[in-house]
Amino acid sequence: MSDIPESIPKPEQLGVIDQQLPRSDWMDTPVVFKHGSYCYSAKSKFMSYLDLPNPRDWSPMDKDWKLPNDWQRIIHEGLRERLSKYRSLKVFMDICVRCGACADKCHFFIGSGDPKNMPVLRAELLRSVYRKDFTTAGKILGKIAGARELTVDVLKEWYYYFYQCTECRRCSVFCPYGIDTAEITMLARELLNLVGLNIGWTIEPCANCFRTGNHLGIQPHGFADSIEFAVDELEEITGIRVDAPINKKGAEILFITPSADYFASPHYYTLLGYLALFHEIGLDYTWSTFASEGGNFGLFTSHEMIKRLNAKMYAEAKRLGVKWILGGECGHMWRVVHQYMDTMNGPADFLQEPVSPITGTRFENARSTKMVHITEFTSDLIRNNKLKLDPSRNNHWRATFHDSCNPARALGLFEEPRYVIRNVCNNFFEMPDNTIREQTFCCGSGAGLGNDENMEMRLRGGLPRANAVRHVHEKHGVNILLCMCAIDKATLPPLMEYWVPGVEVGGIHELVANALVLTGEKERTTDVRGEPLMKEEDTKDV
Ligand code: SF4
Ligand code: SF4
Repeated sequence: MSDIPESIPKPEQLGVIDQQLPRSDWMDTPVVFKHGSYCYSAKSKFMSYLDLPNPRDWSPMDKDWKLPNDWQRIIHEGLRERLSKYRSLKVFMDICVRCGACADKCHFFIGSGDPKNMPVLRAELLRSVYRKDFTTAGKILGKIAGARELTVDVLKEWYYYFYQCTECRRCSVFCPYGIDTAEITMLARELLNLVGLNIGWTIEPCANCFRTGNHLGIQPHGFADSIEFAVDELEEITGIRVDAPINKKGAEILFITPSADYFASPHYYTLLGYLALFHEIGLDYTWSTFASEGGNFGLFTSHEMIKRLNAKMYAEAKRLGVKWILGGECGHMWRVVHQYMDTMNGPADFLQEPVSPITGTRFENARSTKMVHITEFTSDLIRNNKLKLDPSRNNHWRATFHDSCNPARALGLFEEPRYVIRNVCNNFFEMPDNTIREQTFCCGSGAGLGNDENMEMRLRGGLPRANAVRHVHEKHGVNILLCMCAIDKATLPPLMEYWVPGVEVGGIHELVANALVLTGEKERTTDVRGEPLMKEEDTKDV
């Protein structure tokens, strides 16, 4: 069944981008909430679970947003507090020279043509209010100095456009001053949250995570059942029954991955890869029902929320008495772990500097956080010849790789995933240079925007990524787009279905699962999706 609603225009219509500038000045052009291009509000019950301000049921299409009476004062005080707390915010408010280098780097501007989706103008939505309230020139000269009052219309504009930024940081790569519009978005969202303006697809996962440990609200027995099901399925494919310990005290390593890996497709095939790998190397590890989520939607909500949700990782590592933590294929988990965990909830001095028990490699880059990424771990195993791999089992796949914004641009994980892919797959093709690695294009649906009501904007925002995939699809016959982020695995399939039919989406450890030769396994006839493997004679010209 298609994920694309009937109401969405066809690709040949959506692909024609209206680049006309509005007739009026941007300050005098009010926001229009267009169906398919905005996110629904958070439900009051999920806001209440988290003790968020002003819980109520409301819709962005309502005239009255049921704001608190003193909402202007709340936002003003919130901005004052953040300007004094985050030096970066103060600097970003003051130093933009409006050179425009960032303007055409945002996938939402490229795909929508809406000037307020230029990073420079998106930031200006907040900066104009900052000037009015916090600078002398703005107070005296007003609009001439680029300043404006914070009105309800401005607040509505903030909601529309700050929930139309995936915090991907592509624009920051091109800014000569290093202005990071993603950080501006994060703080603008914090301000919106102070008066109860949050979106459903960030607050519901946060509330679920807070109550049950994971975004999907899965309870411990559901988690255990799902892992057990995967163990059964892996046995059917390989003839090997693996052990998958849960809440095992004294295990050497705690493994944490996004909950989508054990409940959604195509994430689930990645899970089969982890299980097969850990069994084959005899890893002494454990899953946790409490730290049953790697992702952290707090990143899209507030710093306070990041901290609350992230705390379970160290708490569970302590409770179980492990030496260090291994992280699965996840995007924003990795940004939170490396950017915030150590100072927000650490240092975790009760853990040890991670050392691979199989190769003896010391992961010095993880000395501080005590958390290693699965692609670092697996690439190290391959480099040290610890795995028997048969890449021909992936000959039915012609793969390309989408650098997920957070692990790639934010943290520099460029080589490890590629090293793993090249060793498990014979047919790998890179997308054009200016669309990968540091300059990677976002999936268009991160930061809590991957909901169905926002589908048109998702497809517009994903257009640059889809164009690059189409290039390798047409040139090299690429038929799978690999990635290492749960949000990507959820949001890229409809993007491909719409813009580049014929390209599937998968995880890196899915291809590891196919290629890994397990000791004592039966002859494999299918890949982990149940698709028949190519016969030798069919692979000769590959
Ligand atoms: S590139 Fe940087 S300095 Fe130039 S307009 Fe964009 S944010 Fe401002
Ligand atoms: S962070 Fe990404 S989505 Fe947000 S303005 Fe920059 S390029 Fe656009």
